[in-house]
Amino acid sequence: MAADKTGSGSDYARREQGYRDRALKLYPWICGRCSREFTYSNLRELTVHHKDHNHENNPPDGSNWELLCLYCHDNEHSKYHEHRLYGGDETPREKEPEPARHNPFAGLKGLLDKK
Ligand SMILES: [Zn+2]
Ligand SMILES: [Zn+2]
Repeated sequence: MAADKTGSGSDYARREQGYRDRALKLYPWICGRCSREFTYSNLRELTVHHKDHNHENNPPDGSNWELLCLYCHDNEHSKYHEHRLYGGDETPREKEPEPARHNPFAGLKGLLDKK
């Protein structure tokens, strides 16, 4: 891997924007999963999914792209436990349910063990 350099984030965003534009020209604005149709007004909810989950793989014929709405895209990625988000949301969301930290019996067990 190349060393981190400042600005790599915006490079990434620009590249992503590039393939998104191309995908939107290639394909009808319809979610590939739920068939929801999109227009300019809600187009930002339509995202480009990479079928092989490799964001670097952007063949000019669009064969690695699939247009998915945010919700279907989310489902697609949760299957892969992939945290890399799409569509410019820069704050990673924690999706794993927190294990219960407050075990009501933890203290009790300590009391029972301590004789
Ligand atoms: Zn959808
Ligand atoms: Zn995707």
